Amino acid sequence: MTQIKDTTELDFCDVLFMPKRTTLNSRSEADVVREYKFRYYPHTLKSCGIMAANMATTGTFEVNNVLQKYQAITCLHKHYDFTNSANYDYIKQNFQKEESNGNSYTFVSTGLKDDKEKLYAILSDESFKVDKLCIDIANGYIPKLLEFVKEVRAKFPNLLIMVGNVVTGDMTQDLILSGADIVKVGIGPGSVCTTRKLTGVGRPQLSAILECADAAHGVGGLVCADGGCTCAGDVAKAFGAGADFVMLGGMLAGTDEAAGDLIEKDVQTNLLVADEKNPNEQYLLIKKEKYKQFYGMSSQLAQEKHFGGMACYRASEGKVVEVAYKGSVAGVIQEILGGVRSTMSYIGARRLKDIPKCTTFYRVNRQLNEVFGKS
Ligand code: 5GP
Repeated sequence: MTQIKDTTELDFCDVLFMPKRTTLNSRSEADVVREYKFRYYPHTLKSCGIMAANMATTGTFEVNNVLQKYQAITCLHKHYDFTNSANYDYIKQNFQKEESNGNSYTFVSTGLKDDKEKLYAILSDESFKVDKLCIDIANGYIPKLLEFVKEVRAKFPNLLIMVGNVVTGDMTQDLILSGADIVKVGIGPGSVCTTRKLTGVGRPQLSAILECADAAHGVGGLVCADGGCTCAGDVAKAFGAGADFVMLGGMLAGTDEAAGDLIEKDVQTNLLVADEKNPNEQYLLIKKEKYKQFYGMSSQLAQEKHFGGMACYRASEGKVVEVAYKGSVAGVIQEILGGVRSTMSYIGARRLKDIPKCTTFYRVNRQLNEVFGKS
């Protein structure tokens, strides 16, 4: 019998933080680096909790190189071939560099259909020192995923395992009890995701985080909110809802370090300018604008680029967009951390971990005053 869950389900845009009396006099007093402890992984990790998505565009060595300076994590995309000596050497040096400051900020990624033997060889390679794995599939509810998590945990008891994606507490707990340290939360919120359109499946992201975080914390696990953040305020709201980590794709796309060619386009503005040669004539100013391509990992383009074409039983659940060029990813991460610090000073949270304790959300029906146009 069909059931309807008649509770209110919320997205980031449906809430705002309530400002509270605070002991912080300035945002510089807010500490955005947290020391994480895990259910299975035996080490601690000091991080700001931001993760670059393991997408071919954002999960790159170049993004990793910059983000680690901010103690932010990069989940490398799974299309790097580590049997290629250049890739192998790069990551080996990188891990050693990271290790010298006590933490590594790099996950390698896998799906369920990837070559297990290759993955196990990488994880077993002592000189390679990979100790963090992201197991990423679109539908985290399939039984094979639980079996795989159990298998990897049994083989690698000291590995930091993040797995997803789900949006409900029951499955979050199942994955943690099967061996996951972190569960990735989000079905359908991504900026280049079309799952909700194609399948009708999904859950508003703020409600999904609230439920999954509560479920995970109850059994000693952590959650990563994956997808749907469009600005620093959304990242802060994800932390406010209880996310321990926040994964970003679109916000880090369009940067120098993201993969893809820079595209330059002539764009017509609505500014009228006089024609120098013919003073009686005016024309609309044309401006050059720069973009970078960003695509969903289930898009037709990704299937063609990385999997040699779309399997006949699949349909594209992702799209291709052009994202405005943003310069270095360093600028983006600084802006996000600046925003989160400022949120913390508004709500009285001295440490990143305190954000949910200090969070009261107002439900709102409008966030921004856009009367004078969008910027
Ligand atoms: P964003 O930060 O861009 O809103 O979301 C990034 C997340 O979108 C990724 O981490 C991943 O979970 C999800 N994603 C990436 N590509 C696709 C896709 O092609 N289809 C779907 N359904 N989700 C995607």
